[in-house]
Amino acid sequence: MAFINDNFIILSETYLFSEIARKVAAYKEHNPSANVIRLGIGDVTRPLAPAVVTALHQAVDEMGQASTFRGYGPEQGYDFLRQTIVSHDFEARGISISPDEIFVSDGAKSDTGNFGDILGKDNIIAVTDPVYPVYVDTNVMAGRAGMQDASGAWNNIVYLPCTAENQFVPSLPDKHADIIYLCYPNNPTGTTLKRDELKKWVDYAREQDSIILFDAAYEAFISEPDVPHSIYEIEGARDVAIEFRSFSKTAGFTGLRCGYTVVPKNITAHSKNHERIPLNRLWNRRQTTKFNGTAYIVQRAAEAVYSAEGQQQIKETIAHYMHNATLIREGIEKKGIAAFGGVNAPYIWLKTPDNISSWQFFDRLLNEVNVVGTPGVGFGPHGEGYFRLTAFGSLQQTTEAMQRIAGWKL
Ligand SMILES: *Cc1c(COP(=O)(O)O)cnc(C)c1O
Repeated sequence: MAFINDNFIILSETYLFSEIARKVAAYKEHNPSANVIRLGIGDVTRPLAPAVVTALHQAVDEMGQASTFRGYGPEQGYDFLRQTIVSHDFEARGISISPDEIFVSDGAKSDTGNFGDILGKDNIIAVTDPVYPVYVDTNVMAGRAGMQDASGAWNNIVYLPCTAENQFVPSLPDKHADIIYLCYPNNPTGTTLKRDELKKWVDYAREQDSIILFDAAYEAFISEPDVPHSIYEIEGARDVAIEFRSFSKTAGFTGLRCGYTVVPKNITAHSKNHERIPLNRLWNRRQTTKFNGTAYIVQRAAEAVYSAEGQQQIKETIAHYMHNATLIREGIEKKGIAAFGGVNAPYIWLKTPDNISSWQFFDRLLNEVNVVGTPGVGFGPHGEGYFRLTAFGSLQQTTEAMQRIAGWKL
């Protein structure tokens, strides 16, 4: 008899996006002529930068010639890319990271999800609430979450509420957490932690012998000076923090797939017999066993993101999205609705008016102005009463959506 991993049974279906799709499809069936605008997607829409496309073409040609063909590459990524990452993302900010602390991958979703492979089952996990669902669901799969209560919260997970009341700055947990997931700039709230706020977490992790898993997928969207781009800008973070980066939102790689994870060599965690084991060694072992590297052509494309033209081109695309973000945030505020984020991230997180629920707001927005967003409660219990709009649409669609909302009788 074969058995399944029962943790997959207690993990409920991903209700959020299928429910949104169902409601939109039902609306369109009854209103076939309606022009529904989607401001709910967490995917980019602008094409790849020309510098990236050129690098891809060149790499494809190399693969087509016997003299320059490449088969399996290093599981950790090619030196040309690891070196380029170190000099642009870290050395340029005065951070000391070496190329063998960089693990190139097919993206931050897999890395944040897979990192739990090298962590013990009994760790206490802490997440912000609301949260990017991958952190929670992968811990459920690993058996670390316990059971779910009526609000959707897991009893072994420590939730760190992030709401308008605390300006979306989570308080340190009142009970010990071993592993803390932080995502800044944040998806879904679009908010950030200032340097002194992030330092509290690094200090906590050092004091408590905890590890921070820091997801910096939206680093490229930061516009304010006192928001750290990397957790390693904080003194002491090299001893306690893993950082995840992605080319997905930075450079439109959602369909191309490339990211990387930084695992400093000095970070250790305990074995059952109280030895301190370097995580860099374990992650290397995990990756060389279960992963065979990111495509050569994709790594050449990622390298091109760092060229002078590449940097100029991705900045223009990000400016395009952030212009949409400004239109959304200002339009929402003009309606007298509280809006957060949208300054250092492509997400606007709004407080639903008159305390209506996230789903009631979704239904009204869809039915009355034909605009689709994402109900905040889908990201965790403390997302109830909030709603997410994204800046990844076109300027024309975003402008039209905001015109409809401006004329909306709420
Ligand atoms: C989009 C996103 C990522 C990127 O994932 P990829 O697998 O690299 O595309 C990572 N973390 C968060 C919070 C995201 O929203």
